[in-house]
Amino acid sequence: MRIGATRIGATVLGYPRIGPKRELKHAVEGYWAGRLDEAGLREVAEGLRADTWRELSTLDSIPGNTFSYYDQVLDTAVLFDAVPERHRALGMGPLDTYFAMARGTAEVAPLELTKWFDTNYHHLVPEVGPGTRFALVGDKPLAEYREALALGVATRPVLIGPVTFLLLAKPADGAPADFSPLTLLDPLVDRYAELLAALARAGVEWVQLDEPAFALDRSPGELAALQSAYDRLAALPQRPALLVAGYFAELGDALGVLADTAVEGVAVDLVAGRADLDRIPVLTGLRDKAVVLGLVEGRNVWRTDLRDAAATGAGLLGAVGAVGVSTSCSLLHVPYDLDAEPGLDPVVRARLAFARQKVEEVTLLGRVLLGGEPVDLLTASADAVAAGVASARSDASVRARLAELTPHDRTRMPYADRADAQESRLRLPALATTTIGSFPQTGAVRRARADLGRGVLDEAGYDRLMREEIEHVIRLQEEIGLDVLVHGEPERNDMVQYFAERLDGFAHTELGWVQSYGSRCVRPPILHGDVSRPAPMTVRWAEYAQSLTPRPVKGMLTGPVTILAWSFVRADQPRSDTADQVALALRDELADLEAAGIGVIQVDEPALRETLPLRTADRGAYLEWAVAAFRLATSGVAPWTQVHTHLCYSEFGDVIAAIDALDADVTTIEAARSRMEVLSDLAAIGYARGVGPGVYDIHSPRVPGSGELSDLLAEALRAVPARRLWANPDCGLKTRTYREVEPALRNLVEAATRARLTA
Ligand code: GLN
Ligand code: ZN
Repeated sequence: MRIGATRIGATVLGYPRIGPKRELKHAVEGYWAGRLDEAGLREVAEGLRADTWRELSTLDSIPGNTFSYYDQVLDTAVLFDAVPERHRALGMGPLDTYFAMARGTAEVAPLELTKWFDTNYHHLVPEVGPGTRFALVGDKPLAEYREALALGVATRPVLIGPVTFLLLAKPADGAPADFSPLTLLDPLVDRYAELLAALARAGVEWVQLDEPAFALDRSPGELAALQSAYDRLAALPQRPALLVAGYFAELGDALGVLADTAVEGVAVDLVAGRADLDRIPVLTGLRDKAVVLGLVEGRNVWRTDLRDAAATGAGLLGAVGAVGVSTSCSLLHVPYDLDAEPGLDPVVRARLAFARQKVEEVTLLGRVLLGGEPVDLLTASADAVAAGVASARSDASVRARLAELTPHDRTRMPYADRADAQESRLRLPALATTTIGSFPQTGAVRRARADLGRGVLDEAGYDRLMREEIEHVIRLQEEIGLDVLVHGEPERNDMVQYFAERLDGFAHTELGWVQSYGSRCVRPPILHGDVSRPAPMTVRWAEYAQSLTPRPVKGMLTGPVTILAWSFVRADQPRSDTADQVALALRDELADLEAAGIGVIQVDEPALRETLPLRTADRGAYLEWAVAAFRLATSGVAPWTQVHTHLCYSEFGDVIAAIDALDADVTTIEAARSRMEVLSDLAAIGYARGVGPGVYDIHSPRVPGSGELSDLLAEALRAVPARRLWANPDCGLKTRTYREVEPALRNLVEAATRARLTA
């Protein structure tokens, strides 16, 4: 071990930064709106950082540089001057250039936003090309280190590792199509070397370099890049001790690679990457390294059985140079503080730990496992977890239904027969037009919901406003000439929360905010017990909408996979069982919609692709339960009821067979931006049911002309016959305005009408 490097002991890999009451969100948005000046914003940020360091003071090693005004990947790009020309050319100051990269301006597009591995956090995608010249232009990690030191706290700056940074980057505009950002590794490592030297000069003892990109299967070339980067960084004459962290899955081969380098420490995720546990003792390269064991789950909200965690850790005490204990990943993905939730059911609450409680858990674990304090200190935690599992809401009737399920419950009549029955019932034209569900959520709609929440508006008044809105949306669609209508979802705050609030087995927080991207935060529901449906959830709205029009109105539900993906999910039983419980509740909802005369029902699964496990070896099992749950939800209806599903967020290649296996009658799918590629992928695997490739990109305010929509439909018609093809936008319209939506939908109907003539 490097001379002088103290032990890491108990630590966490990162911490939330948005503020316990979303102070940073309010400050940043205030700055954007011109209500707060730069100095005011910086003051809020400084206060939040100081609070965080105080919060973490019980740890042996305190992570630093965990703060961000927007995103840690963007911070890294700016730190090394990977600023695209279009943002640089705006000629703004550093902070405004930073926000322009994050959000774009009237003139220039922002960096692309994408999911941070398999979490619900989104990071910005750096753009690099052969012309990129990295330079160490920023000093954020150093400045925050000094700021903490001035408060008496020596931190361990956390950086995104150079290899992960490049693996997350995409080729800049104008770069050759086959340009690989990884070819820039050497010059980037040189800049990291400068940064490490500067940190060492300032007295930094340890630096954490995050390499979560190695939680995915990586090629030999990528593993070699990892080796080369850390061989070079470890060989620097002046640098802090290096802790390389992997998380979200096992490090696998990458752990062996890191063991062979001369870095001082590695951090492994022993919750999501349990398989690394067996690798650690056999890797001789780890015998002189610190191995930081991620034993407290960083991305879910359950208490840890610390006795169990200590037993796992104890098994490695002699096998490596030094053991440290930590959260499995950064705590960025959980809410701040359970103590801010007095309203939670005490039985549920007793099972939970948010960021602050997880810091306490790690601290206690360290005292016992590393500090020699009595194991008895961990009994309470073990008992609480056992009691929590025993007290989880149990619903005998749901369990009995699950136990009796047979494959028959997940199977509908053959598609050809269903298609005939649906055709004679619905009498839709070829190339039928529809939308994905939501219509613009106007100020009035949001206000009504807020007023209901604050008690200013009563249920009856709220109902009246929603009905007016639904009628407006129905009339508009009739007038535009769409074929399958929707009620517009005005009553939904969020497509998962709406259902979670109406199902038993979920809890909700007041302040359980988690950063989604930038200033956007979400409050995921907590799925803690058996799930069941006390009453119909959507029927009265759908029924009302259908009563207004002779055209079919599509019922609108969120699928089991997406409900799980955007919630904190119980860990005391397999996800497949939990998904089936949610599916049974939805199955009853579909039956009720059908009984109410709804002939078309859409079950949205936008999260199907994004929940795909990082390691290919884990994907088959996931897709199996995901598809099974969807089919359980949707197979109970009659053959003449048409089931739609909707998927978004692109890159369907990996799940194309699963999409087919969902066995929906119609699949609407994001395709406008990928030029209909998904259609040939579907055709290639023999998909032969209805498909609605989104021809209109709702993520942009631009109104597509009927000419370009016709072109896209013509292109789609080359892959799919007209009677199976649908014309629709690529996602819900709730974030758009009527000014954009109305002309766009008119153009869509016009394009479809024209295409019918030629098809
Ligand atoms: N039905 C939802 C809507 O239209 C689907 C949203 C989504 O795919 N994310 O808003
Ligand atoms: Zn969508």
